[in-house]
Amino acid sequence: MHWSFDFKRIITHTDRVIAKAKAPDIIKLSWGEPAFPPSKKIREALLEAFNKGYTRYTPPAGLQELREAISDKLRRKNKIDTDPSEIIVTVGGTGALHLIFRLIAKGEVITIPNPGWFAYPSVIRVAEANLVWIDEKKYGYEALQKAREGLKRKGKELKAIVINSPSNPSGYIFSEKQLKEILDFAEDYSAYIISDEVYEDFILEGKHISIASIKKDCVFTVFSLSKTYALTGLRIGYIVAPDKQIAKELTILQLHTCVCPTSFAQYVALVCIRDRIEEEYISKWISVIKENIQYLDKKLKERGITWEKPKGGIYAWFPLPRIDSKKFAFELLEKKKVAVAVGADFGTKWDEYIRITTAVEPEIFREGIDRILQYYDEIQK
Ligand code: PMP
Repeated sequence: MHWSFDFKRIITHTDRVIAKAKAPDIIKLSWGEPAFPPSKKIREALLEAFNKGYTRYTPPAGLQELREAISDKLRRKNKIDTDPSEIIVTVGGTGALHLIFRLIAKGEVITIPNPGWFAYPSVIRVAEANLVWIDEKKYGYEALQKAREGLKRKGKELKAIVINSPSNPSGYIFSEKQLKEILDFAEDYSAYIISDEVYEDFILEGKHISIASIKKDCVFTVFSLSKTYALTGLRIGYIVAPDKQIAKELTILQLHTCVCPTSFAQYVALVCIRDRIEEEYISKWISVIKENIQYLDKKLKERGITWEKPKGGIYAWFPLPRIDSKKFAFELLEKKKVAVAVGADFGTKWDEYIRITTAVEPEIFREGIDRILQYYDEIQK
């Protein structure tokens, strides 16, 4: 059978590690989700959703009251001034990205940060688009212009720029200067910006700026409830579209993809956002993440390994010199029962890197680190 995209290219090494890491005794540091339990209020909200009858189809763009609560949240927290009619509730951040790429990207070229979330290339390929990696720290006017010129020579245009701040995997946070340069480029060359802000609540150093708070008419912003509320299974995210017309088009795409996101999940999302339930625990999670990073930093220093501590997000991204991350991850899983994400999946020059989740209870995190480094030491001998 012939499909419009190459299946072999959309399955990553990390997908394979995650699929293999099923046994309960495995320390799972490969996952992109906080391991903390979700707030009790979320369980109550789910029961309430049924009692209130949120069990039927909703409008394809999502419940009106949820979109209003999101619009208030965007104004308060992200300084994005937007109307509920420009918001589409989606099946997670992944569902959001898929709708956007389906709308704008077929046959087009999109830039993504290097390193960047390992699923971007797959989601882009599923949408039958092409991608170019751009060094995350150099992401700015000049680098984009250079990428565009390279594409022009091949008769192609640059359609959209993906940014992800705080970043998965590096925890990098884009500076205001960088965001402004990216906006200037997008304006000068009629490109769209897709700003993935699913880690907005995990700020360890500095502050989070939503690019759409500076200017929004070429920006799609993607948010998710997965990380902030430890609700990866809820499958609720949302898009802030550049304008009402584009929001309508995304809504029609969603209608004919899945009709609407799950009704009672949307109700849970409404309670989370309206009642700001993250405020009761997020700073506690951030202290745990910082504590874990300190431990890792000490252990890496002992081995003379230099790395950059994350400024945000829920990951540690570091090199293990002289390893092949693909081989290392599978051997580590088998021999030490620890699952990690494979650096090679995150861009073009990360063969010796691994990514681990820091949003994990410290005892588990420490045990995981000890096993990773023990195995690393063993293979160095
Ligand atoms: N963007 C980034 C950068 C992510 O890391 C993830 C999840 N790993 C997502 C989007 C999507 O998450 P979800 O579909 O669970 O909202």
